[in-house]
Amino acid sequence: MSVNVGDLDAIAAEIRQRISVAADQLALEQLRIEALGKKGRLTAALRSVGALPPEQRAAAGARANALKTEVETLLTERARQLQTARLETLGDREWVDVSVVPGAVRRGHLHPLTLVLREVKAIFSRLGYEVALGPQLEDEFHNFEALNIPAEHPARDTMDSFYVEGQRWLLRTHTSPVQIRYMQSHKPPIRIIAPGAVYRRDATDPSHGSQFYQFEGLVVDHDIRLSDLKGTIEYFARSLFGADRRIRIAGDHFPFTEPSIGAAVSCGLCGGKGCRSCKAGWLEILGAGMVHPQVLRNGGIDPAHYSGFAFGAGLDRLAMLRYNVSDLRLFLENDVRFLRQF
Ligand SMILES: [Zn+2]
Repeated sequence: MSVNVGDLDAIAAEIRQRISVAADQLALEQLRIEALGKKGRLTAALRSVGALPPEQRAAAGARANALKTEVETLLTERARQLQTARLETLGDREWVDVSVVPGAVRRGHLHPLTLVLREVKAIFSRLGYEVALGPQLEDEFHNFEALNIPAEHPARDTMDSFYVEGQRWLLRTHTSPVQIRYMQSHKPPIRIIAPGAVYRRDATDPSHGSQFYQFEGLVVDHDIRLSDLKGTIEYFARSLFGADRRIRIAGDHFPFTEPSIGAAVSCGLCGGKGCRSCKAGWLEILGAGMVHPQVLRNGGIDPAHYSGFAFGAGLDRLAMLRYNVSDLRLFLENDVRFLRQF
């Protein structure tokens, strides 16, 4: 490429004009690259000076260098102008209102069953209990035999179960097998609660589902008595439902406890007078009893030296009572209109 002083002047005039009307820093940067970049027009002109006849070289070189310096100066000045203009109008164009209160961010929250389970865990941890977990797929020994429920026992009918192939394994029908597993692997004193999902082949209705949540409690030590169990239930129920609640203990029957009891708490809606949501003022909350000596033996513990109590409750049921929910299925449908209320 050949260049003469006239070409340089034409290029310079055009660039000068465009710099004067450049609207922002980005446009200026593009102009700088176009004129002075590696492949820029002034850069190319400077490079071609060497190819000029010797008598023209000095003058063209000096002219091109002067133009380069001029363009650099113009770019800097225009940038400063634009910056000043921006700062002068900044207050009008780029303000933020620091007093604006934005709409609340909608956050998720814990499921009501999780909330109740956390309360239950907190109550029992104050009494020194630990949380123990067990498998949801159980063998028949831990789910039935070890808990005094032999093959012909009527309880096996009421607990119609989900068996997996081969009829040896089933989805646990209660959390009680965790008692056996824990006794087999730990020495007394034992003080645990075992929460988790359990499964039964029940038809689904407002108070039954094929999957629900239980928690189991087990205490084994020297000289554990029924009065210890009663005090524990009382402390638990009053912690969960309120200090004014009364407890009713009645006889019951379970294969794995002897004697067995059922515990009810006075209805919070009617104060115990009797209403539509309770049975004559009482709400059943759990089944319990003194651990059957044979169940202790099945867990590897000698009933001559140790005694214990156990209790089991439906977590869903406690949540229904705690939050006055009338239908168990609501906990599993995950309808946000329901869940948002907790
Ligand atoms: Zn009531």
